[in-house]
Amino acid sequence: MDFIVQASYFAAAVLFIYGLKKMSSPSDARKGIVWAGIGMVVATLATFFHPAVHHIDNIILIVIAMGLGGYLAWVSGKKVAMTDMPQMVALYNGLGGGAAALIAAVELIRQDNMSQIVQILAVIGALIGTMAFSGSLVAYAKLQGIMRKTIRFPKQQLVNGTVFLTTVALGLMIAFGGSDYSMLGLFIFFMLALALGVMMTVPIGGADMPVIISLFNALTGLAVGFEGYVLENPAMMIAGIVVGSAGTLLTQLMAKAMNRPISNVLFSNFGETSGDAQEVTGSMKEIEAPDVAVMMAFADKVIIVPGYGMAVAQAQHKIWELVKQLQEHNVTVKFAIHPVAGRMPGHMNVLLAEAGVPYDIIYDLDEINEEFPTTDVTLVIGANDVVNPAARTDPNSPIYGMPILNADKSKNVIVIKRGKGKGFSGIENHLFFADNTRMLYGDAQQVANDLVANIKEI
Ligand code: NDP
Repeated sequence: MDFIVQASYFAAAVLFIYGLKKMSSPSDARKGIVWAGIGMVVATLATFFHPAVHHIDNIILIVIAMGLGGYLAWVSGKKVAMTDMPQMVALYNGLGGGAAALIAAVELIRQDNMSQIVQILAVIGALIGTMAFSGSLVAYAKLQGIMRKTIRFPKQQLVNGTVFLTTVALGLMIAFGGSDYSMLGLFIFFMLALALGVMMTVPIGGADMPVIISLFNALTGLAVGFEGYVLENPAMMIAGIVVGSAGTLLTQLMAKAMNRPISNVLFSNFGETSGDAQEVTGSMKEIEAPDVAVMMAFADKVIIVPGYGMAVAQAQHKIWELVKQLQEHNVTVKFAIHPVAGRMPGHMNVLLAEAGVPYDIIYDLDEINEEFPTTDVTLVIGANDVVNPAARTDPNSPIYGMPILNADKSKNVIVIKRGKGKGFSGIENHLFFADNTRMLYGDAQQVANDLVANIKEI
C-alpha cells in the first residue's frame, strides 16, 4: 500500500509541474489549473491510504471539514467577479500559510521526539506560514477596500526590526531547545509572527501591493514545503517548492516592474515620501466619441493602454471589435501592457486573450515605450497609475521611480474613464491635465460601444 501512496504522490507532483507549465501561456492556463487540480485530488485521496492514517481516529471530522471547505471554496469561486479575484487569491494564499503554520503548531506542541533538523524546519515553516497568513489577510482587507489607510508611524522600521529579531530569537530557542521549550514561549512566538505579518503589510501603500502579494505567495509555498518535510509528505514538499519558487520569481518580476529592490519590501516603508506632491496645473478637457472616432480612423498608429477600469467594465470584447474596425481603416493598432496594470499579474493579458486579441499586437512596457512619440493617438482605457508621469517627474510622489507607459509622449492622448476617480494609489494624475490629453467620460464598455458605432459611419 505504501508503494501505491508514494507512487500517487509522485504522479501528483508531475501533474503540479505539468499544470504550472501550461499556466505559462494564457491560452493554456485554464487547462493548467485543471491538471494541477487533478494532481491535488490524487494527493489528497492517496493520503487517506497512508500508513499513518490508521492511527487517526477522527477521520469523520476530517472528511466533514474537507467537504465544508471544498463547498465554500466552490461556491465562492463560482460567485467571485473577475475584478475581485486578487482579494480572493490573497485570502486563499493566507489560508495556505495558516494551514502550514497550524501543522507546525501541532507538531511542536506534541513534542514527539522530532529530530533536530525537523524541529528547525518546523519552526521556520511556522514563522513564515504565520506571517504569510496575517499579512495576506491585511492585503485582502486593502484590496477589498475594507482597510483604506496606510499606517505609518515614526521609527516604524526600528519597531518592526525589534519585533522581527525577538521572534527569530524565540524561534531559535524553540528550534534548538530539544523538548525543553515552554508552551508559553511557543504561544508568544506565534503571536509575534502574526504581528509581524500585519506590521509588514500595513505601511505598504501607493501602487506597491503587487510585490507584497507575490512575496506572501512565495512565503506560503515555502512554509508548505517545510511542513511537508516535517510530515515526510513528498507531495506537500514538491507542491510547496513549486509554489515557493514560482512565487519568488513573480516577486522579482513585480519588484522589477515597480523598480524597487526586494529589500525595500522587508526593511523599508514602501512609497514613503518626505515632501508634498507636485501641484497639478491645467484643466481636464473633455471630448466626445464622434470626434475621437474620426481622430483614430484617420491616424497611422494607435496604441491602446488598458487598465483596471477595462476589467471592471468588461470592455475587452468591444475594444477588440474597435481594433478590427481601425485595422480596416489601415490603422496600425498595438496594445501596451504594464506589468502591474489591473489587480493581478497578467490581468490584462488574460482579458485580451479571452476576447481573442492576437498576441502579436500585445506588447510589454519595455518593448513599446520607445514608440509613444511616433504614435498619433494613445487610447487609455480605465488605466491611471500605470500612465502617471509623476512616476518620472515628481520625487515626492509615492509612485516615483516606478516605470510607466509613456503615454504622455504621444501626439494625442484620449483617456476613457467615468469621472475624476483616482487609481489604486489614490494620487492625482498629471496626464489627465496635459495639453495633448482629452477626456472621454463614461463606462469603458459603453464608450467602446459608441466608438465602434461612430467608426462604422465613417
Ligand atoms: P488604476 O487602479 O490606477 O486606475 C483605474 C481607473 O479606472 C480609475 O482611475 C477609474 O477612474 C477607472 N475606472 C474604474 N471603473 C471604470 C469603468 N467601469 N469604466 C471606465 N473607467 C473605469 O488602474 P491601473 O491598471 O492603471 O493600475 C493598477 C494599480 O493597481 C496600480 O497602482 C498597481 O500597483 C495596483 N495593483 C496591481 C496589482 C497587480 O498585480 N496588477 C495588485 C494590486 C494592486 P473613474 O473612477 O473615474 O472611472
